[in-house]
Amino acid sequence: MKLKIAIQKSGRLNEDSIKLLKEAGIEFNNGLNKLKSEAVNFPLEVFFLRDDDIPQYIEDGVADIGIVGENVVMEKNKEVKIVDHLGFGKCRLSIAIPKNQNYEGIQDLNDKRIATSYSMVLSNYFKKNKISAEIHEISGSVEIAPGIGLADAVCDLVSSGSTLFTNGLKEVEVILKSEAVLISNNNLSKEQDLILKKLLFRITAVKKAKNNKYILLNAPNKNLDAICKILPGMKSPTILPLADNGWSSVHSVVNENEFWDIIEKLKDKGAEGILVVPIEKMIL
Ligand code: ATP
Ligand code: ZN
Repeated sequence: MKLKIAIQKSGRLNEDSIKLLKEAGIEFNNGLNKLKSEAVNFPLEVFFLRDDDIPQYIEDGVADIGIVGENVVMEKNKEVKIVDHLGFGKCRLSIAIPKNQNYEGIQDLNDKRIATSYSMVLSNYFKKNKISAEIHEISGSVEIAPGIGLADAVCDLVSSGSTLFTNGLKEVEVILKSEAVLISNNNLSKEQDLILKKLLFRITAVKKAKNNKYILLNAPNKNLDAICKILPGMKSPTILPLADNGWSSVHSVVNENEFWDIIEKLKDKGAEGILVVPIEKMIL
């Protein structure tokens, strides 16, 4: 029994999808010019496909699970379920108009022609906001449509905004925020579900490790209590006496989001020689 996972063959999600599986300890060939590849040390078969096709294949059961952008899941609207958010491929689906045009609000989009590859998501958005605009579905290079007179505005994926900028456009509405997600067929067998749970367990460990750092520091003993309060750790910090009298070494794990905040508080309490090290896997 094997679980079949579909990932993007080439493009923005390909590398990170492969990296995630490899960091989860799963070994397979990268699939250059290959449609599929069998993992050697985990019951997984990897299919390399165009991202647009992945939701359909999973609904049909050709693949059991897959990695795609939430934007694609929303657009295709297939019977699949999102089982995890993966933290990469972050972008937003936005409406942009020529830079030099005034924009006061969404009502300005009434009666405009808008080019997009996301007609489903966009038409739902217009329905919800009671806008009547003409949607032109095109499959690539959406950002050049206003420049060649094909449309008045675009609805496209944006990450830094530099593509919009170089095409003389400005972002005026964000209609969806997206990141890569793990999706699954709705009717996995018990055995398949067990393999998925194993995979999810590993993915969680990899993601947790990325969001956390191992921290080591020297602390004056008189401030140990205060320092331990700042550093929760996985259970509680490890404290080891230093050869130097009156000082200890404190080890703990801190979350990336609180990291700088914590470092400042530690320094205020006299912590010295602070080392921060990446964690490879983290199992709670
Ligand atoms: P395919 O050949 O598989 O159809 P594609 O050209 O449709 O590829 P890519 O441009 O590789 O797709 O983007 C894949 C996904 O990466 C998008 O659906 C989106 O979820 C995500 N992504 C992240 N940042 C961006 C960005 N700045 N522009 C476009 N997509 C982005
Ligand atoms: Zn695509």
